[in-house]
Amino acid sequence: MDLVFSPSQEAFRLEVRRFLEQKLPPSIAEKVRIGEELSKDDHERWHALLDERGWLAPHWPVEHGGPGWGVVEAAIFDHERALAHAPMTVAFGVSMLGPVLIKYGTDAQKRHWLPRILSGEDWWCQGYSEPGAGSDLAAIKTRAVRGVDAAGEHYVVNGQKTWTTLGQHANMIFCLVRTDPSAKKQRGISFLLIDMNTPGVEVRPIRLLDGSYEVNEVFFTDVRVPIENLVGEENEGWTYAKYLLTYERTSIAGVGESMAAFDWLRAVAGRLTENDRPLAQDPLFAARIARVEIELENMKTTNLRVIAAAAAGGAPGAESSMIKVRGSEIRQEINALVRRALGPQAQVFFEAADGGDGHDPAGGPTDTRFATATYFNMRKLSIFGGSNEIQRNIISKTIVGL
Ligand SMILES: Cc1cc2nc3c(=O)[nH]c(=O)nc-3n(C[C@H](O)[C@H](O)[C@H](O)COP(=O)(O)OP(=O)(O)OC[C@H]3O[C@@H](n4cnc5c(N)ncnc54)[C@H](O)[C@@H]3O)c2cc1C
Repeated sequence: MDLVFSPSQEAFRLEVRRFLEQKLPPSIAEKVRIGEELSKDDHERWHALLDERGWLAPHWPVEHGGPGWGVVEAAIFDHERALAHAPMTVAFGVSMLGPVLIKYGTDAQKRHWLPRILSGEDWWCQGYSEPGAGSDLAAIKTRAVRGVDAAGEHYVVNGQKTWTTLGQHANMIFCLVRTDPSAKKQRGISFLLIDMNTPGVEVRPIRLLDGSYEVNEVFFTDVRVPIENLVGEENEGWTYAKYLLTYERTSIAGVGESMAAFDWLRAVAGRLTENDRPLAQDPLFAARIARVEIELENMKTTNLRVIAAAAAGGAPGAESSMIKVRGSEIRQEINALVRRALGPQAQVFFEAADGGDGHDPAGGPTDTRFATATYFNMRKLSIFGGSNEIQRNIISKTIVGL
C-alpha cells in the first residue's frame, strides 16, 4: 500500500523530492545508505540546509520558525527524506526540547533557545537515564539544590547521567534532576537546561559493540545552573519529561527507514547466492522476506491511522508505544536477514568497515560493508526511548486496560 495524496499534498511531495535531489549532498546520502557513521560536520551541514529552506523543525509553529506543516506534510517529508537516504534530524533540540519549550517554556526561554536550536548554535543532548534509572526513570538521583549567592538564584547539581547520545558534540544538555528528595518519586523531579561548558561537567565516552562512538557518561560535580534554566515549575519535571517521550517514540519507529532498508535487503538477497541460486529464491529465506514485508505493510497502515488521528487533532498517546515496538522489531528483523544473507562474511565487520569483504565493487545498492555494524547498532532501537518491554506494559495498561 502506498500513501494516497490529495493534489496539494502530491504537489508538496514533488517539492520535497526536488529539494532532496538538489540539496542533499551525495556524500552524506551514501553514508546513510550503507550505514556508515555520520560526522558532526555531516549532521551540521544537513541541518543548515534544512534550516535555510525553513524545514528543520516540522512540528514547530510558524511563529517559532516552523514551516507551518500539518502532520500529513510532516509525514510526507519524513517518508521522502528516508527514501532518499537523507539523515534523520538529530532529535534532541528540534524534536525533543523544542516542543517542550514551546508548550511549557517562558517567553524569555522561547526567545533565547528556540532560534539557537534552528541556527545550530546549540547542540543539545538528553540527560534522562542514570545508572539505576533507565526503565525506572523516576528513580533518578542526580540532585539539584537551590541556593542564592551574590550572582543570583541558582541550582547546584551533583550526579551522573549515562547513555548520553552524541554528548561529545553537545554544548547543552537538558536534564531531569531531583529537587525534592522527600516527595513521592515522580513529584520531586525538575527539568533543567545545563551548559556543558560549566565547570564540573565531565563527558566520558562509552564504546559500543559496533565499534562506534555514539554514547557517553556525563558527570556533574557542583555544577552551578542559573535559575532561569528551570523549565516550567520546580518539582513538576515529570510532566514535561513524559510529554517529550511521546515525540521521541514516534520518531524511533522509522517507517521510511524500514522501507529503504527493505529495498536494500531485497537487492542483497538477489545478489548473494546459496547453493548456486540467489537467496531470494530460497524458499525459507523468501518466506522470511515475505513475512517482514507483510509486517512492514501493516506498520505503514497503522502509521497512517495514527497520522490521520493526529491530523484530526489527537495527540500521540499509547499508539506511539505500538508503533515504537513494531517499527523497531521490523528494522531489527531486516538487518538480521541481511546479516543472515552474508553468512560467514558477517563476522568480519571491522575489516569490512575498512572497505574489505562485503564491498560491492560497483558501489551499488547491495553494498554490505557496514551491514554487521548496522545489525549490532540497531539493537538499540528496542532499548532506548523506553524499552519494548516497557512499551508493552504501557499498551497493556492504556489500551487493553489490564
Ligand atoms: C544506544 C543508546 C542510546 C541511548 N541514548 C540515551 C540518551 O541520549 N539519553 C538518555 O537519557 N538515555 C539514553 N539511553 C538510555 C535508554 O533510555 C535506557 O537504556 C532504557 O530506558 C533502558 O534502561 P536501562 O538501560 O537502565 O535498562 P533497565 O531498565 O535496567 O532494563 C533492563 C531490562 O529489563 C527490562 N525491564 C525493566 N523494567 C521492566 C518492567 N517493569 N517490566 C518488564 N521488563 C522490564 C527492560 O526491558 C530491559 O530488557 C540510550 C540507550 C542506548 C542503548
